[in-house]
Amino acid sequence: MMAQIIDGKSFAARLRLRIAADVVTLASRGITPGLAVVLVGEDPASQVYVRSKGRMTREVGMTSFEHRLPAETDQETLLALIAQLNADAAVNGILVQLPLPPHMDEAAVINAIAPDKDVDGFHILNVGRLATGQKAMVPCTPLGCLMLLRDHLGTLSGRNAVVIGRSNIVGKPMAQLLLRDSATVTVAHSRTADLPALCRQADILVAAVGRPNFVQGAWIKPGATVIDVGINRTEEGLVGDVHQASAMPVAGALTPVPGGVGPMTIACLLANTLTATRRAAGLPDPEGLTP
Ligand code: NAD
Repeated sequence: MMAQIIDGKSFAARLRLRIAADVVTLASRGITPGLAVVLVGEDPASQVYVRSKGRMTREVGMTSFEHRLPAETDQETLLALIAQLNADAAVNGILVQLPLPPHMDEAAVINAIAPDKDVDGFHILNVGRLATGQKAMVPCTPLGCLMLLRDHLGTLSGRNAVVIGRSNIVGKPMAQLLLRDSATVTVAHSRTADLPALCRQADILVAAVGRPNFVQGAWIKPGATVIDVGINRTEEGLVGDVHQASAMPVAGALTPVPGGVGPMTIACLLANTLTATRRAAGLPDPEGLTP
């Protein structure tokens, strides 16, 4: 039997419709969520991301503020812009597109964002809140993975989860979210011994490695749910971190690349902006959009 395809693209489209409906409800109270995206430099991939973030923000009825600064901008200027956005009541979410130019201190810049407007969930306070089970802003990509897993599996409680990758933006927050849902979590990385054997124990396997077709079908426990976070540009086009052809006959369910986790990331950015807006207005969190 072939794995069921977890259709992140259509899930994300439904999520955006839900968010748009909530934006209409907020409009009746005179509230319009606003998302500010700051891009420093001309990195082509970042430009594509920023453009599509702006378009999707407007599509759900939110206001998009875009700030493009030249690559040679000094850090003081960027920090001054962030301070201005922190103070602006029309801005509910602030995202500084990474990577920043090498002369900037990424952590200092991210930690200058007001934590409650930190819709990427990278501020040290949000990292700590997530790790200690407090109300946080949660990084968008792992939040999207969690939504797909819950939708497909129902409860994650007691399941063995292996996350391959320990980055601050995907692997670590993914592990925290799985732990919060009572999965038994192992984080694997480049120094892990016998990764295939470890993966074969996973009911839930999340691959966030950044290596094309890395996870082989023979590493997958039959029937496992596999979430492929990887986005790798190769001569054959966009491929994930999971070798899809060999994974398909073994896995129970699998996210495709493209059309799996990718579309969920921007949808969750909009979800986080909605959450931030509602919290700023003293309203309860939107149902199903937060962990
Ligand atoms: P990263 O480079 O920061 O981290 C990669 C991790 O993989 C590291 O922790 C490393 O220890 C681990 N790793 C590397 N080689 C390994 C090996 N041989 N065995 C086991 N582990 C190994 O990458 P990242 O930012 O976490 O992104 C991971 C992938 O996810 C990339 O392909 C990236 O493009 C993609 N990504 C997708 C989205 C999305 O929206 N779908 C968002 C962010 C990242």
